[in-house]
Amino acid sequence: MADYDIAIAGAGAVGMSCALWAQMRGHRVLLADPNPPGSGASYGNACTLATYACLPVNAPSVLTGLPGLMFAKDSPLSLSYAHALRNPRWMLSFLANCRAAPSRRIAGHLADLLAHADAGINPLIEAAGAQDLVVARGQLSVWSTASAAEAATADLEQRRALGVPWREVGPEEALEMEPGLRLPVKRAVHFHAARHLRDPQELITRMHRAFMELGGATLRAPVEAVRASATGVEVQADGQSLTAGRAVIAGGAFSKRIEGAGTDKLPLGTERGYHLMYEGEAHRVTRPVGWGEAGFYAVPHAQGLRLTGTVEIAALEAPANPRRLAYIARAGAEMLGPLPDPDSDWLGFRPTLPDSLPVIGPSPQSDRLLYAFGHQHIGLTLSGITGRLIADLAEGRQPNVDLSPFAADRAFA
Ligand SMILES: Cc1cc2nc3c(=O)[nH]c(=O)nc-3n(C[C@H](O)[C@H](O)[C@H](O)COP(=O)(O)OP(=O)(O)OC[C@H]3O[C@@H](n4cnc5c(N)ncnc54)[C@H](O)[C@@H]3O)c2cc1C
Repeated sequence: MADYDIAIAGAGAVGMSCALWAQMRGHRVLLADPNPPGSGASYGNACTLATYACLPVNAPSVLTGLPGLMFAKDSPLSLSYAHALRNPRWMLSFLANCRAAPSRRIAGHLADLLAHADAGINPLIEAAGAQDLVVARGQLSVWSTASAAEAATADLEQRRALGVPWREVGPEEALEMEPGLRLPVKRAVHFHAARHLRDPQELITRMHRAFMELGGATLRAPVEAVRASATGVEVQADGQSLTAGRAVIAGGAFSKRIEGAGTDKLPLGTERGYHLMYEGEAHRVTRPVGWGEAGFYAVPHAQGLRLTGTVEIAALEAPANPRRLAYIARAGAEMLGPLPDPDSDWLGFRPTLPDSLPVIGPSPQSDRLLYAFGHQHIGLTLSGITGRLIADLAEGRQPNVDLSPFAADRAFA
């Protein structure tokens, strides 16, 4: 008999959800990660269970606005040209998916998956005893210029057509909802079905505790290699060779680095994002507030105000870019009025395939290797449903979601 039924590489929101779902279903699960649970991208994000976020970054506006976006000093999107030249496959495929037809198709697939997001994560929140971390006040999106407010209409209507509920909020009501805003609000929309977490890492820590209490095993080491055979998977980690019925690759943006997993053949890249933390300033907003033109959110985190977001297309290894942080600090003061110096900053790596769809399903080489990565901007939101789908696949059950758009062997454009 194998040492474990399921071995999971990666204890971010996604891997932890896979582990807890499988353990709750009575499997013998090993969770391996060199770092504490929830300390990767899942730590520093915008804390939002963003069930409305079905529109990918791949959008026609990226193609038309690309030169302006990239050369502007204050831009929510930045691109390292050297990185783009070194990764032409990812870059060209990403841009090809910005055309209207693929962008619409991607949005549809994301909306289908997001429709199951709450059903996937709610049982985990309950199992973790973490209901106190969840706040149901929706998300407020605001635009501060008439042109951007007008341009948002097409996106909003697309979301509505895909089943996302939202409500137009007048500028006065927006300022009543969020009196800390100092922007000239030209338009505001409330995504009232969204929720946020006071502290995403705390949720993952509690999920890990629940997992251990149910008999799960943890290894504080990277999975170095996996080798699938007809009967199971050999897992190399921490100088040991372990056996499992199946292995799940959930290493976020680092999922390509596990030998034998076959993930090195996939065009997995990263969209880097940043945050600044201001302790004692959480009262500035009462829910996640996104400023459309600036590309970031102000979020009331348990430890303070978090200004977080933006997209930087650059290498995993490249050092943090101080200009991105300065941009967020500057725009944050414009959004909320003067702020003290931030107490900390953070750079994180969204795992992103060039079509902005995650990979959820078996590897083309063996159904004993299951992939669960590439959740780009919405991995916290989609973590629970991904965990449930992976548990279904590991048991040979037919999932209640069509996973073909998320297959590893799809055409990425
Ligand atoms: C600025 C920013 C804001 C965001 N805001 C939101 C938001 O509001 N809502 C939302 O839903 N999403 C948001 N996201 C996206 C979300 O954070 C990510 O999609 C999600 O955290 C990805 O989770 P993950 O588990 O795949 O990766 P990670 O959290 O990065 O976890 C991967 C784990 O794998 C481990 N690992 C790597 N290699 C190995 C190995 N060989 N063996 C074992 N372990 C390994 C790492 O140590 C890490 O712990 C945001 C992201 C950023 C950067």
